[in-house]
Amino acid sequence: MIVILGLLIVFAVLLILRPWERRACRWRQDTRKLADGRVLFTCVACGAELALPKGRDPEICLAGEQE
Ligand SMILES: [Zn+2]
Repeated sequence: MIVILGLLIVFAVLLILRPWERRACRWRQDTRKLADGRVLFTCVACGAELALPKGRDPEICLAGEQE
């Protein structure tokens, strides 16, 4: 019974904190939204958008900064 309770608590914490969303963004280049020479990247994990100069890839994750 204690084991089941522990698993439930771990599951609830994972659902609330969602650590996998903060770890890494999965950036996808959005070629339709080119503006002023920059490239727009959209994260498929958290929905963040980031505009960068051409030739650069985003290395940071914006998850958690959208609140
Ligand atoms: Zn993200």
